[in-house]
Amino acid sequence: MTTRVHLERDGDVALIVIDNPPINAGSAQVRRGLLAALDTLRRDASLHAAVLIGAGNTFIAGSDLREFGQPLEEPQLPDVIAAIENCGKPVVAALHGAALGGGFELALGCDARVASPGTVVGLPEVTLGIIPGAGGTQRLPRLVGVPRAIQMVCSGERVPSGQALAWGLIDQEAVGDLRAAAVAHARDLRGAKSRLRDRSVPTPDADAVVAASTVALKAGKQRPAVRAAIEAVISASRLPIDQGLAEERAVFQQLRISREAHALRHQFFAERDAAKQPALAGVAPHSVQRVLVIGAGTMGSGIAIAALDASYDVTLLEQDEAALQRGVTRIREHYASRVLAGKMKTSVAAQREAHLSATTDWTVMAQADLVIEAVFEDLAVKQAVFRRIDNMARQGAVLASNTSYLDLDAIAQVTQRPQDVIGLHFFSPANVMRLLEVVRGAATAPDVLATGLALAKRLHKLPVVTANAFGFIGNRIYSAYRRQCEFMLEEGAYPEQVDAALEAFGFAMGPFAVADMSGLDIAWRMRQAQAARRDPAARYVHIPDRLCEAGRLGRKTGAGYYLYEAEAGAKGRQTDPAVREIIDAASAAKNLTRRALSVEEIQRRALLSMVNEAALLLGEGVAQRPSDVDVVLTNGYGFPRWEGGPLFWAVDRGEQALQSDLDWLGEVSGPGFVRGDVKHLWTKGN
Ligand code: NAD
Repeated sequence: MTTRVHLERDGDVALIVIDNPPINAGSAQVRRGLLAALDTLRRDASLHAAVLIGAGNTFIAGSDLREFGQPLEEPQLPDVIAAIENCGKPVVAALHGAALGGGFELALGCDARVASPGTVVGLPEVTLGIIPGAGGTQRLPRLVGVPRAIQMVCSGERVPSGQALAWGLIDQEAVGDLRAAAVAHARDLRGAKSRLRDRSVPTPDADAVVAASTVALKAGKQRPAVRAAIEAVISASRLPIDQGLAEERAVFQQLRISREAHALRHQFFAERDAAKQPALAGVAPHSVQRVLVIGAGTMGSGIAIAALDASYDVTLLEQDEAALQRGVTRIREHYASRVLAGKMKTSVAAQREAHLSATTDWTVMAQADLVIEAVFEDLAVKQAVFRRIDNMARQGAVLASNTSYLDLDAIAQVTQRPQDVIGLHFFSPANVMRLLEVVRGAATAPDVLATGLALAKRLHKLPVVTANAFGFIGNRIYSAYRRQCEFMLEEGAYPEQVDAALEAFGFAMGPFAVADMSGLDIAWRMRQAQAARRDPAARYVHIPDRLCEAGRLGRKTGAGYYLYEAEAGAKGRQTDPAVREIIDAASAAKNLTRRALSVEEIQRRALLSMVNEAALLLGEGVAQRPSDVDVVLTNGYGFPRWEGGPLFWAVDRGEQALQSDLDWLGEVSGPGFVRGDVKHLWTKGN
């Protein structure tokens, strides 16, 4: 037996213990160990049953994803499950923590499943661009029927133990000692096998199958893995199990080496790596319990909800009573709607709200461990607020700004303690979006940065550390991308063509639809503020200014790049001849002969503009790693996850091709284009 799996005995029951910290990931060594243990079980006449259990905090919480990009090592998981099914003695899976992916497939190969309260089970493979490959799509429908299996496999939902019991995914919830309960359960089986493979799939209701498939395809954006998963689950009801298993395995093998699965694994590792800051090893974060949020607008109230949900004590501070009440109402309405939707118990909502206080009295500042400023995006306003914070906050408190674009150092410098100032750039809605840019100012102390990361962890956010620079990582790249899209308007494209091309690539929304949604006036004000500093020789597209001057500020005014019907929803955008006139006039004013731009050219220029800006950010040390850029763009800006992020896309093109791509981008962009060095995409270890 390998060191990853060992065998203990409880009388006539073998305990097969998987010990592969930290998450007991299924690996070749674990599989070899399991086979050896099962061989002992089969041969030892004094053993009548076995319990499969994880050491530490969890059962097998997933597979070792690194294996998926290479030829799989023997024995493979289906071999282990076949050994359980064919060993002649019952095997009970004892689950705690998480039994996910291959871990849950292994449990489905056992004769019964016992779980501790709080365990989660599920098959998240589809979110990684593959399908379960060790019988998940064949055994699960035998347990819960085809429609529910489609829903579970396609969503990758993590099902908590109570729900799992109600659905029949587990046989028993063990309130006391899991190990003892599983051993007792194994003895109760009295030597009888109870294999899912021997059960038939409940005859599916055709309408329910269609309904589940439709929902899954829509939610899963029609991705290949979702389609394949639906087909595999449905075939479980049509094919003999061995044929179903063989077909499932073949599809799994095909998908796991697909570009899409590779991209999604890249995202998985990129997100995991983003929070890693080796330079902070051994640096202790400040302890934070009382959070003060200044500004109760869109962001302030969202941040307050996120903090309340993570059990912080939260105080909202505003400049005027009316704005404060609007913020408090927004928070109350949020919790009321959660309760109404059945997503939160009344008692939990009440508990969260009980930890909220709201005031216009600035003396509350003295009690805060962490202050988060979310007032208007205006340097002078923020500096004035930080002077007050500096006067009133206790020494050692962490002082954060939620600025989107402003110079964090210019904010920090008005205080006597710039080392305590940090940027926490939340995304809207702040209680929903996982991405959090943690901005390290020139003076930010390591323990303050560590506090930002600890906060992110407690809020269940996805932190990406960035240095201080205009727009940090995300907004700066997005600005370059939007600018490039504006160039294309001037050269011959119309907003709907650019948006359609980028939506076809996979963006959740094209840049002009996004601009209309956010409001065109924010960027307008910013351009006005920067006008004096702009290089007069650089190419400048006047179209957005003309739209704003015509009162077209986006959806909120019923018109922007598009025209909006009052009640038509986000998709209700309509092409407007008046916009075409503004665009045509802008081209004519620069003596540009308008030409048709292909979908391919629009996509290529838009993506290359992101890549170029990212190369600049990496060169300047604003972004630490190429993979951080991918995390930001996919989690904050609607870049399609299954494309891995702009730099995954770029690296795939190869360095030579990318060099000439950027030469070309420079030519079409014209004066003012600053070329990034693509070597950073490779040398910084993507
Ligand atoms: P908002 O206008 O909705 O809210 C700002 C609030 O701050 C208002 O309620 C206002 O009364 C209050 N305020 C203004 N000056 C104040 C002062 N001196 N003292 C106390 N309160 C004051 O704005 P928002 O969209 O929530 O944006 C707030 C900050 O968050 C900005 O820096 C913005 O750039 C940033 N941000 C916004 C978004 C977004 O999508 N809206 C996303 C990320 C970051």
